[in-house]
Amino acid sequence: MKLDKIEIPELFKRNTPPGFKFVNWKEHDFLVVDSIFCKHGHNLLDSSVTIHGQPSIKLEVTIEERNGVMFIDAFWGSHAKLFSFFPGFIHDHALVEASCPHCRVSMMESYSCDEEDCGSDTGIVFYLPGDHNRVHVCAKLNCPSHRLEIIDVPNDLVRTISHINFFGEGIDDMFGDF
Ligand SMILES: [Zn+2]
Ligand SMILES: [Zn+2]
Repeated sequence: MKLDKIEIPELFKRNTPPGFKFVNWKEHDFLVVDSIFCKHGHNLLDSSVTIHGQPSIKLEVTIEERNGVMFIDAFWGSHAKLFSFFPGFIHDHALVEASCPHCRVSMMESYSCDEEDCGSDTGIVFYLPGDHNRVHVCAKLNCPSHRLEIIDVPNDLVRTISHINFFGEGIDDMFGDF
């Protein structure tokens, strides 16, 4: 996987958003998810499966009638994923139905995706530390659309970070069994 350099606004570095940390990797700073929860407050980070050396975000998923566990790269903007099942036959824009691996609560919400050629009306919501801080992600597999909602951080900075997609798109790391 290729990692591209990204400029993270200095102001943002001084106001690290809740639930995030900066990680210096290969001489660049990356924004990495550090605490993220289901609506019941269960920690979704799993240190037993690391991607790019960081704990991954673990979800229970159903994709085109297949159930399993999906691990998502905690590097903000990355779309690298690992699956506990082999998803090879799945359509590129299949709906990912996600739930908490601890309490099984649904993480689905309505979402209006602004990516061209997607048009999804379904998203996945993650909870960050703080009462009103969230990450919203389009529920279509491989759609890069995501939004950050953070109170107490200036809107334009939140928007800048929301638009970071520094890894490009696609499933770069896929394993059939583990
Ligand atoms: Zn839960
Ligand atoms: Zn989308």
